[in-house]
Amino acid sequence: MKAKVYFTDFRTEFHGTGRVYKLRRLMRAAGFESLDFKDKFAAIKMHFGETGNLAYLRPQYAKAVADYVRELGGNPFLTDCNTLYAGSRKNALEHLDTAASNGFNVLSAGCQILIGDGLKGSDDVPVPVPNGIRCRTARIGRAVMDADVIISLTHFKGHEAMGIGGTIKNIGMGCGSRAGKMDMHSDGKPAVDTSRCVGCGICMKQCAHNALLPVRGCMTVDLARCAGCGSCISVCPKDALFPAHGSGPELLTEKTTEYAAAVLNGRPQFHISLLCDIAPNCDCHGENDAAILPDIGMLAGFDPVALDMAACDLCNQTPRITGNTWLENRSVGNDVFNDAHPDTRWRTAIDHAVRIKFGNPDYELVKIK
Ligand code: SF4
Ligand code: SF4
Repeated sequence: MKAKVYFTDFRTEFHGTGRVYKLRRLMRAAGFESLDFKDKFAAIKMHFGETGNLAYLRPQYAKAVADYVRELGGNPFLTDCNTLYAGSRKNALEHLDTAASNGFNVLSAGCQILIGDGLKGSDDVPVPVPNGIRCRTARIGRAVMDADVIISLTHFKGHEAMGIGGTIKNIGMGCGSRAGKMDMHSDGKPAVDTSRCVGCGICMKQCAHNALLPVRGCMTVDLARCAGCGSCISVCPKDALFPAHGSGPELLTEKTTEYAAAVLNGRPQFHISLLCDIAPNCDCHGENDAAILPDIGMLAGFDPVALDMAACDLCNQTPRITGNTWLENRSVGNDVFNDAHPDTRWRTAIDHAVRIKFGNPDYELVKIK
């Protein structure tokens, strides 16, 4: 059976209804009202954009989703989890500040914002990975798992490690706590950049496992004791701690896909993906290069894998925009994301999803006005 993916473009009529109305119409057509929201908490998972990035989704889209949930009797909230890397979203306070300065507040978004893994990214729950090959357990932000319904609202774009930043990435990487992100990005243990460490000892106080030891004025990690929680990374004032032994694009993509499967397994869910401001890289960057594709449209449905597959097909059927760094001087193949990031392969996520019986990449595109 094919998964249905509903699509509408971004075209509007002069003096007609706007894009936000089109999003609501799309959601309705895709069956949003079949979900039971009565007195349920509904997590709307999205990305608030790193400071300096201007490609992230505007809060008006989130408000359209939140308002619709409320009309159906539910209690919506926007959520994302803290980042692993040093940036403007590495703890809940900075994360909320960044969301606010990027325009997200109760009025603009129509609901409250909760950082899914708490103040320091340590408030998570272990979630079994169904049919997991790379991970048995995923560490997911508690608020994400406490929600009764999960809705992903994804800004679809390129990604420097996974090829695409789509629905699977939004859910898998985005719902991972700090420890979860450590797990996906690396073998789960941090390392110390000795050129940055000043031996202040702040990380030592944070570590509940006595895994950090000062040696000649510089911190070292006792790998036998380290539990891979990632807490030390968030508190280092010099950004001297980082995840060691990177997973590499393929392993990272497979782990992220398994995390998405863990988050969604057996839960009421709905997925929305907006193909606009298609930057070559993730919204985690404090900059966004010129778009590599024109605005294409919006997708909605119940199958996250089908949505990513449909989004990639639509992108590869659309003429590219030249004049951005990532497609300049690159050989032009028949896949825009593989051309932008030749050392990645977005298809890995789809293939791995099939392997672990998560979602269905075989889809039927249903176009509505
Ligand atoms: S908090 Fe950072 S700078 Fe301070 S000792 Fe730990 S690693 Fe070094
Ligand atoms: S990752 Fe967690 S357990 Fe490991 S050294 Fe850092 S704080 Fe300690």
